[in-house]
Amino acid sequence: MKDSEKPILVTRSSLPPFEEFMEAVRPLWDSVWLTNFGANHEKLKDELIKYMKVPYVSLFVNGHSALELCIQALELTGEVITTPYTFVSTTHAIIRNGLTPVFCDIHPGDYTMDADQIEDLITERTSAILPVHVYGNVCNIEKIEAVARKHHLKVLYDAAHTFGETYKGKGIGSFGDASMFSFHATKVFNTIEGGAVTTSDRELYEKLHRLKDFGIRDEETIDGVGANGKMNEFQAIMGLCNLKHLEEEIEKRRLVVERYRENLSGVEGLKLNAVQKDVRSNYAYFPVVFEDAFGEDRNQVFERLKRHNIFSRKYFYPLTSSLACFEGRFRPQDTPRALDTANRVLTLPISASLSLELVDHICEVILEGHR
Ligand SMILES: *Cc1c(COP(=O)(O)O)cnc(C)c1O
Repeated sequence: MKDSEKPILVTRSSLPPFEEFMEAVRPLWDSVWLTNFGANHEKLKDELIKYMKVPYVSLFVNGHSALELCIQALELTGEVITTPYTFVSTTHAIIRNGLTPVFCDIHPGDYTMDADQIEDLITERTSAILPVHVYGNVCNIEKIEAVARKHHLKVLYDAAHTFGETYKGKGIGSFGDASMFSFHATKVFNTIEGGAVTTSDRELYEKLHRLKDFGIRDEETIDGVGANGKMNEFQAIMGLCNLKHLEEEIEKRRLVVERYRENLSGVEGLKLNAVQKDVRSNYAYFPVVFEDAFGEDRNQVFERLKRHNIFSRKYFYPLTSSLACFEGRFRPQDTPRALDTANRVLTLPISASLSLELVDHICEVILEGHR
């Protein structure tokens, strides 16, 4: 097969049909209510409570502000046990709250935090565990929550990759004290930019509501040092429109993932993502780890794909513990599995609109590097 003339990007944002979106925004020209908990905001919130199978959903302007403000609302102190194998947002949110991230290594099968190593990292300053459901792989929830209970720690999940997933039939956002979701344009479900915190704790929900609105309790009482994290009406309408097509999109992603698996499983030196039982997946990412036995290394495959107009992503690379802004502050070699995976992983292009023929083509190009 010939190379595609248009670049094949690692992801492609989902957009509803143009007319559908325009119909939905038209009433804003009568109501002139553009933000601050408008009708569409409230409708999206209610629909997400049902779709995500959680008691409370607090919507935010983006996922990162949801995470930062949730850390603030939980009143965490001192040290937070987390993973360096994540998007920079997770680590920045901890540090911007004046806390110290303590990095736990990852599990070799699913790339989430290795729950068996958490207890060794607990000190008298530890206040919480902040794990990430990496690539939509669900963390070892039972173990994490057992450790948290034993040591009286809070648990806040970065669930940015797991929108719409369930674990043992329960909404993935119903575990721990709270979970953060991202509705960024590149995620499975988008509101252009956007995010949410889910929780079962009504008090936390109400506190988040105030904190994302400058800490305003009522017109004359401002009793929290908040920020502006509110989702606006255009974002909410994009969400409502995209939500209508989401099941269809996830099904298309499933077919893409199956096709990748057909082409790539059983190839020596190629490690594919784990398939987790008890998880209803959203097929958010397709990570591949290149072991020595493959032949070419990750960087060589990345460059060769690029020459064929195919753009994969070194995700996650570098580890957040080795970013330039933290130079000399952390020891990436203390999480050797995470370090090794970051040097070997590529996430391959995936979206609802990627054709199966192109998936075959991408795999052919990858396999040219196999010895
Ligand atoms: C996308 C993402 C975020 C940040 O969400 P934004 O909506 O982009 O602010 C945080 N953590 C992880 C793991 C992500 O993938």
